[in-house]
Amino acid sequence: MNKVLVFGHKSPDTDTVTSAVVMANLENKLGIDAKACVLGKLNKETKYVFDYLKIDEPEFIQKVDEGQAVILVDHNEFAQSVDGIENAKIKKVVDHHRICGLKTAEPVGCTATVLYKMYKENNVEIEKNIAILMLSAIISDTLLFKSPTCTKEDIKVAEELNKIANINIQEYGLDMLKAGTDVSDLSADELIGLDAKEVTIGNYKTIIAQVNTASIPDMLKRKEELEISINKKIEEKGLDLFFLAITDIINSNSQVIALGKDAKLVEKSYNVTLEENTAFLPGIVSRKKQIIPVLTQNA
Ligand code: MN
Ligand code: MN
Repeated sequence: MNKVLVFGHKSPDTDTVTSAVVMANLENKLGIDAKACVLGKLNKETKYVFDYLKIDEPEFIQKVDEGQAVILVDHNEFAQSVDGIENAKIKKVVDHHRICGLKTAEPVGCTATVLYKMYKENNVEIEKNIAILMLSAIISDTLLFKSPTCTKEDIKVAEELNKIANINIQEYGLDMLKAGTDVSDLSADELIGLDAKEVTIGNYKTIIAQVNTASIPDMLKRKEELEISINKKIEEKGLDLFFLAITDIINSNSQVIALGKDAKLVEKSYNVTLEENTAFLPGIVSRKKQIIPVLTQNA
């Protein structure tokens, strides 16, 4: 029998990559032959985690064959999934995002939080490495518990996991997040695609991208080249809006660069004026909670 492939979304983030590894581990423990994969290059934040644990990165795959058994983690939309997903055999979906626009009963901040519960439900012991992978995902998705997406459940699970992991969460977490902000070696094209989601908002075709930084002014030094890349992407994909959130992980604010013929949607949504295509958005850090729904309301 061929292996079940477990993977998260394209433009992989830490939750997506670690959740694939963790889910494959759980399946293996339950006697299923499963293997974790990734759909893109690991970012530096995620690399920090794998270097810290001295474990191998999951194998990169571009597409799956017809009938391939798969498990999706941290996403549930074909647009964000592997090429060939339409003809794959989807065994399970483990996610914390809305499914077809429906609010799930208990939203949590991170796929790892859901996976933790699955270990408990199945009475499977969590090894130290696995605990650190899950903790890393929670830290990443909740920006060290500071994002409005962070729930009591995420915090509780993180505390439980740290009984096994036994690390200094604040210190490890900040080092991990900071590792992700080193984007000096990335081209502007890579930067705007690092964490980008294609979303239809009302009648608008948009991409909402996000990049973490320790200094917004530093990132804005690259504004000109970022705008060239963004405009190229708008043309290529026929977008109405490209929203790039440059998120300050230390102070929990964002600076938006908004381009496209419907960039005014950003002004209306946040009651700001775009000056040279950019505006400061105090307290905004979460695409899921503070960007997509706010734009949707005003679209
Ligand atoms: Mn994700
Ligand atoms: Mn996630």
